[in-house]
Amino acid sequence: MAAPFTLRAAALHTPAPDTLEHWPDALIAVDASGSIQSVQPYNGQTPDNLLTLPPGHILLPGLIDLHIHAPQWPQLGTALDLPLEQWLQDHTFPLEARYADSDFAAEVYGAMVPALLANGTTTALYFGSIHLPATQILAETCLRHGQRALVGRVAMDHPELCPPEYRDASAAQAEADTRSLIKAIRALPGNESALVRPVITPRFIPACTDDLLHRLGKLAAETGCHVQTHASESDWEHEHVLDRCGCSDTEALGGFGLLTRRSVLAHGNLLGDDDLALIRETGAAVAHCPLSNAYFAGAVFPLRRALAHGVRVGLGTDIAGGAHPSMLDSARMAITASRMLETGVDPALPAGRRGRPGARIDATTALWLATAAGGAALDLPIGQFRPGYQFDAIAISPGSNLTLPPGEAPARLLERIIHTASRANVARVWVAGREVA
Ligand SMILES: [Zn+2]
Repeated sequence: MAAPFTLRAAALHTPAPDTLEHWPDALIAVDASGSIQSVQPYNGQTPDNLLTLPPGHILLPGLIDLHIHAPQWPQLGTALDLPLEQWLQDHTFPLEARYADSDFAAEVYGAMVPALLANGTTTALYFGSIHLPATQILAETCLRHGQRALVGRVAMDHPELCPPEYRDASAAQAEADTRSLIKAIRALPGNESALVRPVITPRFIPACTDDLLHRLGKLAAETGCHVQTHASESDWEHEHVLDRCGCSDTEALGGFGLLTRRSVLAHGNLLGDDDLALIRETGAAVAHCPLSNAYFAGAVFPLRRALAHGVRVGLGTDIAGGAHPSMLDSARMAITASRMLETGVDPALPAGRRGRPGARIDATTALWLATAAGGAALDLPIGQFRPGYQFDAIAISPGSNLTLPPGEAPARLLERIIHTASRANVARVWVAGREVA
């Protein structure tokens, strides 16, 4: 518990896809549990424990990364020229297998979590490796550094896709280790407010047997935990599931009991209308990963179409399929990808047949994806400056490539931030009212 305080700052947030709210001079009162008590314009009074951001700084909600593979951190920016299945077999699985060594895990995670906080990622939905001790270390590292995190031990037992040196010995053992992680994270000393939460994490259908997927679906119902997996990412993966299950990823996951209000499906590029309807019905969400889609999916996620279906969507870096740790980069890439989808990219086609009209998003929608929408996807009160929400926030300062001219319209200021800010501009970071970077 920290002392209650009030922050005086220029602030903006995006509570809806096309809505930007701006306070040129706000007072945000935060209680001892890190919960926002009130947000109001500065009234000339000086409350107790007043913190004031310097003029020219802008407060935004903390950034929420809905898809990140923690053990792939050392691989950042490499082997992006390979197809997904080869990337997994030749690079990613051998790297993830190294987390059998808990010292290696402690070293990598001890460097990664502070780096992500410094980039403004106040909440991360993490895939770990198959190792229970290493994944516990990841959860403990997040808690120690004060990052809000949802942490999953990857389950993968399919003998055809998973190499012998990196797979669960059996479905029963994968379930048992998942249970142990859930228990361990819920019992972590200092985690009474559930800053760090466990996540049931089947890697993706091709890597898991039906037996394992059924067990994890039952476990989700029993424990109420979040669920994360990959779905309909690339042609290879999508067709693999159609062949094996006779239906799409989404239908199959629903049958296994893995689509719940707390499920997050990464990618979803090839989701059909029936899939989107089922996702909406079950209240599951999609993690849009625009950068890694450019390398591994061969498709742009039709974000506007998913939103029109009423599906909840947030944003992910997909480290290390995406090579940028900053969610500002992901937000920028989401805009770029949407513009390319809208206009199309093959100049040999006539302009009228090249793209998908109405696909574009702007900086307001991009920030919404990275904040409020991520919070909604996780079903947590984060991502907005609103009473009852947690005070997870970042202060953006001008400098480096970013200028923030006084008096400029809020939408323009936000455009400048989304398009030109980087880690260097993330001046201060709070999670649950506690300053963490
Ligand atoms: Zn992934």
